[in-house]
Amino acid sequence: THFGFETVAEGEKHKKVAEVFSSVARRYDVMNDLMSFGLHRLWKAFTIQISGVGRGDRVLDVAGGTADLSLAFAKRVGRDGQVWLTDINHAMLSRGRDRVLDRGFALPVAQCDAEKLPFPDNWFDCVTVAFGLRNMTHKDVALAEMRRVLRPGGRLLVLEFSKVWAPLAPAYDLYSFKILPWMGDKVAHDADSYRYLAESIRMHPSQNELKELMERVGLKRVDYFNLTGGVVALHRGYKL
Ligand code: SAM
Repeated sequence: THFGFETVAEGEKHKKVAEVFSSVARRYDVMNDLMSFGLHRLWKAFTIQISGVGRGDRVLDVAGGTADLSLAFAKRVGRDGQVWLTDINHAMLSRGRDRVLDRGFALPVAQCDAEKLPFPDNWFDCVTVAFGLRNMTHKDVALAEMRRVLRPGGRLLVLEFSKVWAPLAPAYDLYSFKILPWMGDKVAHDADSYRYLAESIRMHPSQNELKELMERVGLKRVDYFNLTGGVVALHRGYKL
């Protein structure tokens, strides 16, 4: 039937992602620091450095959540630039918006699905998605949308968990499947959400698979940087 397995599974993923991020939003920033031993700050700082974003640029932060990247870009683009903070989840986005305002910035904010971006073609100099792509149901559709809104010459940066260097894998699996849910339970009283996060990391494409996916939607000169032994990878691709 048209309510085939895939459709139901997709609907369920969408619902699960919404539940997870509504549930973790309040404790998201503290858990991020705790779970990554503060490393997510370095991974994001590297992304900003590689982005080449400067004064007057137009930047789109997809799945921007609590606005770490948007805030860093806002400092770079200055008054003539534009940084859009977007996310599908209201709870995450309202924390992001509050943080932006508390730090003295006024950025445009939009609640939207990365698979249907409400922006014109060829508009942004840089589009970023940090730790968001693995939660998206149709990654190819989302990547094609991000490419569509880039101007020719613009670049897409994807920061995401990836396949860890083989000798580190046993320790990493122990950490993500045992310690992470335990920490999620103790600190955020939410072991389930952190179990989902560990599973979604394991299901996410490897470095080369993601590179191929980006090339398939028409991005050019795609390359990537492994960070912390491949725990995370930063992929970069251009619209030419
Ligand atoms: N970018 C932020 C960061 O690095 O701290 C937040 C990352 S958080 C792990 C993942 C975010 O992806 C959540 O805020 C979630 O709501 C968002 N997200 C999931 N699916 C999405 C979609 N289809 N479109 C837009 N955002 C989505």
